[in-house]
Amino acid sequence: MIKKSIMKNDESIKQIKGIGDKTAALFEKLGIETVGQLLSHYPNGYDIFDIPVAVRDMVPESRQAIEAACVSTPLLRRGKGISTLSCKATDGTGECELIWFNSPFLKKAIKPGIHMVYLGRVTKNGNRLRMEQPKIFTTDEYRKLIGVLQPKYALTKGLTNNAVIKACGRAIDGFAEDEYIPKRILRSNELISFRDAVKTIHFPKDYVSLLNARKRIVFNEFFDFAVMIRAARDERQRIRNTFKIDSENQVELFIKSLPYELTGAQKRAIDVINSEMKSDFVMNRLVQGDVGSGKTVVAVCALINVALSGYQGVMMAPTEVLARQHFENVTKMVEPLDIKCVLVCGSMSAKERREADKLASSGEASIVIGTHALFSERTCFCNPALVITDEQHRFGVRQREMLSSKGCSPHMLVMSATPIPRTLAIVLYGDMDISVIDEMPAARLPIKNCVLQSSERGKAAAFMLAEISKGHQGYIICPMVDENPDIPGLNSVKIYTERFREVVGDRARIECLHGKMKPKEKDEIMQEFKNGEIDILVSTTVVEVGVDVTNATVMMIENSERFGLAQLHQLRGRVGRGSAQSYCIFLSGVSNASNNDRLKIISSTNDGFKIAGEDLRLRGPGDILGVRQSGEIEFKLADIFADANVLQMANDAVNDLTEDEFCDIKEVVAGGNFSAEHIYTLTT
Ligand code: ADP
Ligand code: MG
Repeated sequence: MIKKSIMKNDESIKQIKGIGDKTAALFEKLGIETVGQLLSHYPNGYDIFDIPVAVRDMVPESRQAIEAACVSTPLLRRGKGISTLSCKATDGTGECELIWFNSPFLKKAIKPGIHMVYLGRVTKNGNRLRMEQPKIFTTDEYRKLIGVLQPKYALTKGLTNNAVIKACGRAIDGFAEDEYIPKRILRSNELISFRDAVKTIHFPKDYVSLLNARKRIVFNEFFDFAVMIRAARDERQRIRNTFKIDSENQVELFIKSLPYELTGAQKRAIDVINSEMKSDFVMNRLVQGDVGSGKTVVAVCALINVALSGYQGVMMAPTEVLARQHFENVTKMVEPLDIKCVLVCGSMSAKERREADKLASSGEASIVIGTHALFSERTCFCNPALVITDEQHRFGVRQREMLSSKGCSPHMLVMSATPIPRTLAIVLYGDMDISVIDEMPAARLPIKNCVLQSSERGKAAAFMLAEISKGHQGYIICPMVDENPDIPGLNSVKIYTERFREVVGDRARIECLHGKMKPKEKDEIMQEFKNGEIDILVSTTVVEVGVDVTNATVMMIENSERFGLAQLHQLRGRVGRGSAQSYCIFLSGVSNASNNDRLKIISSTNDGFKIAGEDLRLRGPGDILGVRQSGEIEFKLADIFADANVLQMANDAVNDLTEDEFCDIKEVVAGGNFSAEHIYTLTT
C-alpha cells in the first residue's frame, strides 16, 4: 500500500503553534507556506557547541565558549549610529572583554558575579582578548547543548534562526509517515525511514546519523527524478512508428564501398539504429563516442536508410563550418546512390536560401543538413522520418524539441562527443537509449603530447615546420581574436598570424580563422585548408567541434592555461584522425601547481572519459555540461556529481520497480518537484 500523507505536509504553516500571520509572512519570503515546504527547508550548515575553554586558552579568530563571570557592571556607550556594551569577564585563569554592538537591551541579562557561558568570536584588541557579540547561556542550558549539532538556516530579515528551529521542531512532532518507496528497496539500500531522516537532518545527534539522514533524502530526490524519467521514457516508447524504413541492404552495400572497415562499435550502433527505425515505436537514441571515433559515418548510414526508404532525413550541426563540412562529406558519400542533399544555413544569400528551402519542403532533397537556421519558420520539411543533431551539447534542449516538432514524431538521433560518466548520462539523457562507440578505428596511432613553456615556442614551431615539410598540415590555437591590452600575455589570432608569417612565411602558407570573420570567408579558408592549400591554420576555438582534416598531424595550443580540460581534449581531437602519427603541443604561459596538474592530466592520456572525469572533479559538472547553469535541474540536497553513487542506486531501484508499483508511485511523485513535462523538455 502506498500512502503519501499529503494532508499534513500540505497544511499551512499557520497550523504550527507559535506561527501567526506576521511570522508566516516572513516565511513566505523564503518560499515557505506549507509544513512540507518548511520541513524541506534543510539547514545549510550546523553549529557545534563545544565544551567551554579556559579564558587563558582562548584562541583569536576562532569561535569559542567560555564559562566566566562578569567582574564589572556592563558599560554602555552610545556613538553615532552605533552603541557598544562591554564588560570584563574572568574564570580565574585569565581576563577578557565581552563586547556587543547595538544590543543595549542585553544590559539587563548580564549579571555580575554569576557564572554564565558566553559563546562568540574571539578577537584581539591590542594585546587584550576580546569576545565579540557572544551569545549568553546559563551553565545548565549550555551543558545540554554540548556536542549537539545546531542547524543553521537560510533566513530573511526579521526571521531568526531560533524561530526557524522552533517551527521545524514543532512541525516534526506532527509530521506523519511519508513513505512511498517499497520496504525491500529501503532495506537493500540501507536507508533509514523518511521521517527519521527529516527529523535528523534538522536536529542531528551526531555526524554519522546526519550522513545517513542526508543519504536518505538525497535518495528520495533522485528516486523521484528517476521516476519521472522512466515515465517520460515510457511515454516516448509508446509513440508509434509510422514510417517504413527498410533499406538496410543498400546500407550494407554502402558500407562495403567505404575505403575502410567499420569498427565493431560502429557496426553495432548502425545495426541497432536500423532495427529501431523499423520497430513499432520511434527511436530516441544517443550515440556517444570520443572525438575521432567515427560517429559521422554512423549518422550517414541512418540517413541513407531513411532516404532510400522514401523519407527525408535532417541533420543539424552546431556551427556553420561543421554543417558545411558534413554537407560536403555526405553529398560525396551519397552521390553514387542518387540521393540529393541540401544545405540550409544563415549566411546564404536570399536566393540561395529560397532554393534550399524549396528543395527541403518539396522533398526533392531527401537529406537536409544545416545549422540553427533549420529552426526558422521558413524552412519546412517533407515527411522527415529522422532528425539527427550532432555534437548536441551545444544545442539548447528546447531547440531540439522545436526541430522535432516540425516533423510528425520522427526518430531522434543525437551524436555527442562529450564523454560523460554513466551516472550523469542518466540525468542528461535519462529517457534516451545510449550507444557507446568505444573503439577507435584501427590504424590510428595515439597522439603524442608534450607540454612546453611559452618561451620554448621556437622549438614547437620548428617541430611543426618539420611536419609541414613532410607534406602534413598543422593548427595553432590562440585564445583571442584581437590583442587585448587589458590582458597582456594572451596570444591573438590576428597578431600571431602576422608575426608567424614574418618569420616562417617563406616556408609555409599561414592563414587565420576566427569567429569574427564572415561565414563566407571562414568557409573559403576551411575549404582551402581541406584541399591542402594552407599549411598552417591559426585559429580560435572555432575549430574545436567536429572539423575533420585527416592530413593535419600537429597542433600547438597557445595559452593552454586558458582552456578547460574537456575543451583542450576536443581541440586536440582535430589531429590524430588519420593513419599518420600526430602530435599535440600544449604551450603554457603560466607555471603554477594547479595549471601544471591540469596539463599533466591532458598530456598523459588521450582518453576522453578519464579527462572528463578529472574535469568534473576540478570544475564541477555544471560548467561542462551547461545543465546546472540553465537551472533546469535543481535538487535541494543532492549533487549529481558528489552523490553519483546514490543516483545510481536510486535509478536502479526505479528501474527494478514492477509495473504496478511504478504506476502507483508515479502518481505520488507527480505532485513533487519534477513533472513529466519537465523531464520531457529536458531530454528531448
Ligand atoms: P567523430 O566521431 O569525431 O565525429 P568522424 O566521424 O569525423 O569522427 O571520423 C573521424 C575520421 O575517421 C574521419 O576522417 C572518418 O572518415 C574516419 N573514419 C571513420 N570511421 C573509420 C574507420 N572505421 N576506419 C578508419 N577511419 C574511419
Ligand atoms: Mg563529429
